[in-house]
Amino acid sequence: MRVVADPREARSVRQRLQGSVGLVPTMGALHDGHLSLVRRARAENDSSVATVFVNPAQFGPGEDLAKYPRNLAGDLARLEAEGVDLVFAPEAASVYPPGFGTWVVPGPLAEPLEGARRPGHFRGVLTVVAKLFHVIEPDRAYFGQKDAQQAILVRRMALDLDLSVGIVVCPIVRDRDGLALSSRNAYLTPEERRAAPVLFRSLGAVVEAWGAGERRGERLREAARAVLAAEPLAAPDYISAADPETLAEIVTATGRVLVSMAVRFGATRLLDNVLLPEGSEL
Ligand code: AMP
Repeated sequence: MRVVADPREARSVRQRLQGSVGLVPTMGALHDGHLSLVRRARAENDSSVATVFVNPAQFGPGEDLAKYPRNLAGDLARLEAEGVDLVFAPEAASVYPPGFGTWVVPGPLAEPLEGARRPGHFRGVLTVVAKLFHVIEPDRAYFGQKDAQQAILVRRMALDLDLSVGIVVCPIVRDRDGLALSSRNAYLTPEERRAAPVLFRSLGAVVEAWGAGERRGERLREAARAVLAAEPLAAPDYISAADPETLAEIVTATGRVLVSMAVRFGATRLLDNVLLPEGSEL
Protein backbone atom coordinates (compact mmCIF):
# COMPACT_ATOMS: atom_id res chain seq x y z
CA MET A 1 0.00 0.00 0.00
CA ARG A 2 1.39 3.38 -1.02
CA VAL A 3 0.73 6.36 1.25
CA VAL A 4 1.11 9.69 -0.47
CA ALA A 5 0.57 13.29 0.69
CA ASP A 6 1.54 15.17 -2.48
CA PRO A 7 -1.25 15.51 -5.09
CA ARG A 8 1.11 15.20 -8.09
CA GLU A 9 2.67 12.07 -6.67
CA ALA A 10 -0.81 10.65 -5.91
CA ARG A 11 -1.75 11.25 -9.55
CA SER A 12 1.33 9.47 -10.82
CA VAL A 13 0.90 6.48 -8.45
CA ARG A 14 -2.75 6.22 -9.51
CA GLN A 15 -1.76 6.24 -13.20
CA ARG A 16 0.29 3.12 -12.60
CA LEU A 17 -2.63 1.25 -10.96
CA GLN A 18 -4.07 -1.60 -13.00
CA GLY A 19 -7.61 -1.72 -14.34
CA SER A 20 -10.61 -0.01 -12.82
CA VAL A 21 -10.15 2.15 -9.73
CA GLY A 22 -12.61 2.58 -6.86
CA LEU A 23 -12.23 5.65 -4.63
CA VAL A 24 -13.39 6.03 -1.02
CA PRO A 25 -13.10 9.62 0.26
CA THR A 26 -12.99 9.92 4.08
CA MET A 27 -12.04 12.32 6.83
CA GLY A 28 -10.28 9.51 8.72
CA ALA A 29 -10.94 8.23 12.26
CA LEU A 30 -12.06 5.17 10.35
CA HIS A 31 -14.75 2.83 11.63
CA ASP A 32 -16.59 -0.14 10.15
CA GLY A 33 -18.89 2.19 8.19
CA HIS A 34 -15.92 3.54 6.25
CA LEU A 35 -14.50 0.04 5.88
CA SER A 36 -17.76 -1.21 4.35
CA LEU A 37 -17.19 1.35 1.57
CA VAL A 38 -13.58 0.21 1.18
CA ARG A 39 -14.67 -3.43 0.92
CA ARG A 40 -17.25 -2.58 -1.71
CA ALA A 41 -14.68 -0.58 -3.69
CA ARG A 42 -12.26 -3.50 -3.49
CA ALA A 43 -14.92 -6.01 -4.58
CA GLU A 44 -16.11 -3.97 -7.56
CA ASN A 45 -12.78 -2.69 -8.91
CA ASP A 46 -9.30 -3.94 -9.81
CA SER A 47 -7.64 -1.34 -7.61
CA SER A 48 -8.79 0.74 -4.67
CA VAL A 49 -7.82 4.15 -3.35
CA ALA A 50 -8.84 5.77 -0.05
CA THR A 51 -8.34 9.38 0.86
CA VAL A 52 -7.94 10.68 4.41
CA PHE A 53 -8.39 14.42 4.64
CA VAL A 54 -10.15 16.51 7.28
CA ASN A 55 -11.40 19.13 4.85
CA PRO A 56 -11.32 22.58 6.51
CA ALA A 57 -13.55 24.03 3.77
CA GLN A 58 -16.57 22.03 4.91
CA PHE A 59 -16.43 23.18 8.56
CA GLY A 60 -18.20 26.39 9.59
CA PRO A 61 -16.69 28.95 12.01
CA GLY A 62 -18.09 27.52 15.29
CA GLU A 63 -17.77 23.86 14.23
CA ASP A 64 -15.46 21.06 15.38
CA LEU A 65 -12.55 21.30 12.88
CA ALA A 66 -9.87 21.69 15.56
CA LYS A 67 -11.10 18.81 17.72
CA TYR A 68 -12.26 16.48 14.90
CA PRO A 69 -10.80 13.02 15.75
CA ARG A 70 -7.55 12.27 13.91
CA ASN A 71 -5.74 8.93 13.93
CA LEU A 72 -3.73 8.56 10.71
CA ALA A 73 -1.53 5.71 11.98
CA GLY A 74 -4.56 3.67 13.04
CA ASP A 75 -6.36 4.50 9.78
CA LEU A 76 -3.41 3.37 7.67
CA ALA A 77 -3.21 0.07 9.56
CA ARG A 78 -6.89 -0.59 8.90
CA LEU A 79 -6.64 0.37 5.21
CA GLU A 80 -3.56 -1.80 4.77
CA ALA A 81 -5.40 -4.75 6.34
CA GLU A 82 -8.23 -4.20 3.81
CA GLY A 83 -5.78 -4.42 0.92
CA VAL A 84 -6.12 -0.82 -0.31
CA ASP A 85 -3.55 0.03 -3.01
CA LEU A 86 -3.14 3.76 -2.46
CA VAL A 87 -3.93 6.15 0.37
CA PHE A 88 -3.92 9.83 -0.50
CA ALA A 89 -3.62 11.86 2.72
CA PRO A 90 -2.80 15.43 1.72
CA GLU A 91 -2.05 18.47 3.88
CA ALA A 92 -4.56 21.32 3.84
CA ALA A 93 -1.86 23.59 2.39
CA SER A 94 -1.51 21.45 -0.74
CA VAL A 95 -5.29 21.14 -1.24
CA TYR A 96 -5.88 24.87 -0.65
CA PRO A 97 -2.61 26.63 -1.52
CA PRO A 98 -2.25 30.39 -1.09
CA GLY A 99 -4.43 32.18 -3.65
CA PHE A 100 -6.94 29.31 -3.88
CA GLY A 101 -10.20 30.85 -5.14
CA THR A 102 -12.27 28.47 -7.31
CA TRP A 103 -15.22 26.61 -5.82
CA VAL A 104 -17.92 24.15 -6.82
CA VAL A 105 -21.14 25.90 -5.81
CA PRO A 106 -24.06 23.50 -5.31
CA GLY A 107 -27.58 24.30 -6.51
CA PRO A 108 -30.91 24.18 -4.63
CA LEU A 109 -30.41 20.61 -3.34
CA ALA A 110 -27.93 22.13 -0.86
CA GLU A 111 -30.49 24.55 0.54
CA PRO A 112 -32.58 22.46 3.00
CA LEU A 113 -31.56 20.11 5.85
CA GLU A 114 -27.79 20.11 6.51
CA GLY A 115 -27.25 22.94 4.02
CA ALA A 116 -29.63 25.23 5.91
CA ARG A 117 -27.88 24.58 9.23
CA ARG A 118 -24.32 24.56 7.90
CA PRO A 119 -23.88 27.45 5.43
CA GLY A 120 -21.08 26.73 2.96
CA HIS A 121 -20.73 23.12 4.09
CA PHE A 122 -21.68 21.53 0.78
CA ARG A 123 -19.65 24.04 -1.22
CA GLY A 124 -16.67 22.78 0.77
CA VAL A 125 -17.65 19.12 0.31
CA LEU A 126 -18.24 19.34 -3.44
CA THR A 127 -15.08 21.34 -4.03
CA VAL A 128 -12.88 18.80 -2.27
CA VAL A 129 -14.68 15.83 -3.84
CA ALA A 130 -14.22 17.37 -7.32
CA LYS A 131 -10.52 17.91 -6.57
CA LEU A 132 -10.11 14.31 -5.33
CA PHE A 133 -11.88 13.07 -8.47
CA HIS A 134 -9.44 15.03 -10.63
CA VAL A 135 -6.35 13.77 -8.83
CA ILE A 136 -7.42 10.12 -8.67
CA GLU A 137 -9.70 9.87 -11.73
CA PRO A 138 -11.64 6.92 -10.28
CA ASP A 139 -14.03 4.78 -12.30
CA ARG A 140 -16.33 4.58 -9.29
CA ALA A 141 -16.53 6.50 -6.02
CA TYR A 142 -18.18 5.18 -2.85
CA PHE A 143 -20.25 7.24 -0.43
CA GLY A 144 -22.40 6.34 2.58
CA GLN A 145 -26.15 6.77 2.77
CA LYS A 146 -25.39 7.95 6.31
CA ASP A 147 -24.79 11.38 4.73
CA ALA A 148 -27.75 11.15 2.37
CA GLN A 149 -27.87 14.79 1.26
CA GLN A 150 -24.12 14.68 0.56
CA ALA A 151 -24.53 11.57 -1.60
CA ILE A 152 -27.42 13.19 -3.49
CA LEU A 153 -25.35 16.34 -4.10
CA VAL A 154 -22.27 14.42 -5.24
CA ARG A 155 -24.38 12.47 -7.71
CA ARG A 156 -25.94 15.74 -8.94
CA MET A 157 -22.47 17.26 -9.37
CA ALA A 158 -21.27 14.26 -11.37
CA LEU A 159 -24.27 14.67 -13.70
CA ASP A 160 -24.08 18.45 -13.95
CA LEU A 161 -20.32 18.61 -14.57
CA ASP A 162 -20.20 15.56 -16.90
CA LEU A 163 -17.85 13.68 -14.58
CA SER A 164 -17.27 10.16 -15.83
CA VAL A 165 -17.28 8.57 -12.38
CA GLY A 166 -19.96 6.19 -11.16
CA ILE A 167 -21.33 7.26 -7.76
CA VAL A 168 -22.12 4.27 -5.55
CA VAL A 169 -24.13 4.86 -2.36
CA CYS A 170 -23.66 2.21 0.35
CA PRO A 171 -26.02 1.30 3.24
CA ILE A 172 -25.63 2.70 6.75
CA VAL A 173 -23.52 0.51 9.06
CA ARG A 174 -24.82 0.48 12.63
CA ASP A 175 -23.64 -0.57 16.05
CA ARG A 176 -25.40 -3.50 17.69
CA ASP A 177 -27.87 -1.18 19.41
CA GLY A 178 -28.75 0.53 16.13
CA LEU A 179 -26.64 3.69 16.49
CA ALA A 180 -25.23 4.61 13.07
CA LEU A 181 -21.43 4.48 13.23
CA SER A 182 -19.86 7.93 13.06
CA SER A 183 -16.49 9.40 13.90
CA ARG A 184 -18.41 11.94 15.99
CA ASN A 185 -19.85 9.21 18.27
CA ALA A 186 -16.49 9.46 20.08
CA TYR A 187 -17.61 12.85 21.45
CA LEU A 188 -20.58 11.34 23.33
CA THR A 189 -20.43 10.97 27.11
CA PRO A 190 -21.31 7.44 28.33
CA GLU A 191 -24.77 8.69 29.27
CA GLU A 192 -25.32 10.29 25.86
CA ARG A 193 -24.03 7.16 24.14
CA ARG A 194 -26.64 5.10 26.00
CA ALA A 195 -29.37 7.53 24.88
CA ALA A 196 -28.22 7.87 21.24
CA PRO A 197 -29.93 4.74 19.78
CA VAL A 198 -33.17 6.72 20.15
CA LEU A 199 -32.47 8.01 16.61
CA PHE A 200 -32.65 4.49 15.21
CA ARG A 201 -35.72 3.71 17.30
CA SER A 202 -37.46 6.84 16.07
CA LEU A 203 -36.75 5.81 12.47
CA GLY A 204 -38.16 2.39 13.36
CA ALA A 205 -41.39 4.08 14.40
CA VAL A 206 -41.54 5.81 11.02
CA VAL A 207 -40.91 2.54 9.18
CA GLU A 208 -43.71 0.99 11.22
CA ALA A 209 -46.13 3.83 10.41
CA TRP A 210 -45.19 3.55 6.73
CA GLY A 211 -45.77 -0.21 6.90
CA ALA A 212 -49.23 0.44 8.34
CA GLY A 213 -50.01 2.56 5.29
CA GLU A 214 -49.27 6.07 6.58
CA ARG A 215 -48.29 8.34 3.67
CA ARG A 216 -48.87 11.82 5.16
CA GLY A 217 -45.52 13.56 5.60
CA GLU A 218 -46.47 15.31 8.81
CA ARG A 219 -47.64 12.04 10.41
CA LEU A 220 -44.38 10.33 9.43
CA ARG A 221 -42.34 13.20 10.94
CA GLU A 222 -44.58 13.10 14.03
CA ALA A 223 -43.94 9.36 14.50
CA ALA A 224 -40.22 10.10 14.82
CA ARG A 225 -40.73 13.24 16.90
CA ALA A 226 -42.82 11.36 19.49
CA VAL A 227 -40.09 8.77 20.12
CA LEU A 228 -37.35 11.42 20.35
CA ALA A 229 -39.46 13.48 22.76
CA ALA A 230 -39.33 10.65 25.30
CA GLU A 231 -35.51 10.92 25.53
CA PRO A 232 -34.56 13.97 27.64
CA LEU A 233 -30.93 14.04 26.37
CA ALA A 234 -32.04 14.25 22.72
CA ALA A 235 -32.65 17.72 21.26
CA PRO A 236 -33.90 17.39 17.67
CA ASP A 237 -32.49 19.95 15.24
CA TYR A 238 -34.70 18.84 12.34
CA ILE A 239 -36.89 15.88 11.40
CA SER A 240 -37.59 15.66 7.69
CA ALA A 241 -39.66 13.45 5.40
CA ALA A 242 -38.67 14.57 1.92
CA ASP A 243 -38.70 13.53 -1.72
CA PRO A 244 -35.24 11.98 -2.29
CA GLU A 245 -35.05 13.55 -5.76
CA THR A 246 -35.88 17.16 -4.83
CA LEU A 247 -35.50 17.15 -1.02
CA ALA A 248 -38.83 18.98 -0.83
CA GLU A 249 -40.82 18.11 2.30
CA ILE A 250 -43.57 15.61 1.57
CA VAL A 251 -47.23 16.45 2.07
CA THR A 252 -48.52 13.05 0.93
CA ALA A 253 -46.05 10.48 -0.40
CA THR A 254 -46.66 9.04 -3.85
CA GLY A 255 -43.17 7.57 -4.26
CA ARG A 256 -40.09 7.11 -2.10
CA VAL A 257 -39.47 9.19 1.01
CA LEU A 258 -36.15 10.08 2.63
CA VAL A 259 -36.74 10.41 6.37
CA SER A 260 -33.74 12.17 7.89
CA MET A 261 -32.89 13.87 11.12
CA ALA A 262 -30.21 15.73 13.02
CA VAL A 263 -30.37 15.44 16.79
CA ARG A 264 -28.14 17.08 19.39
CA PHE A 265 -26.85 15.28 22.47
CA GLY A 266 -25.09 18.00 24.47
CA ALA A 267 -22.42 19.43 22.14
CA THR A 268 -22.63 16.52 19.68
CA ARG A 269 -24.88 16.56 16.64
CA LEU A 270 -25.83 13.16 15.20
CA LEU A 271 -27.42 12.34 11.84
CA ASP A 272 -29.49 9.36 10.76
CA ASN A 273 -31.94 8.51 8.02
CA VAL A 274 -33.96 5.82 6.33
CA LEU A 275 -35.16 5.64 2.75
CA LEU A 276 -38.76 4.39 2.41
CA PRO A 277 -39.67 1.87 1.29
CA GLU A 278 -36.91 0.32 3.40
CA GLY A 279 -34.35 -1.44 1.27
CA SER A 280 -34.72 0.91 -1.70
CA GLU A 281 -31.52 2.70 -2.71
CA LEU A 282 -30.52 6.34 -3.02
P1 AMP B 1 -16.56 10.93 6.76
O1 AMP B 1 -15.21 10.42 7.13
O2 AMP B 1 -17.47 11.16 7.91
O3 AMP B 1 -16.51 12.10 5.79
O4 AMP B 1 -17.25 9.75 5.95
C1 AMP B 1 -16.65 9.23 4.78
C2 AMP B 1 -17.66 8.40 4.05
O5 AMP B 1 -18.08 7.32 4.88
C3 AMP B 1 -18.92 9.19 3.68
O6 AMP B 1 -19.34 8.82 2.37
C4 AMP B 1 -19.91 8.75 4.72
O7 AMP B 1 -21.26 8.85 4.31
C5 AMP B 1 -19.49 7.30 4.93
N1 AMP B 1 -19.97 6.81 6.22
C6 AMP B 1 -19.80 7.40 7.43
N2 AMP B 1 -20.42 6.69 8.39
C7 AMP B 1 -20.99 5.62 7.77
C8 AMP B 1 -21.79 4.52 8.23
N3 AMP B 1 -22.11 4.35 9.51
N4 AMP B 1 -22.20 3.63 7.31
C9 AMP B 1 -21.89 3.78 6.01
N5 AMP B 1 -21.15 4.78 5.51
C10 AMP B 1 -20.70 5.70 6.39
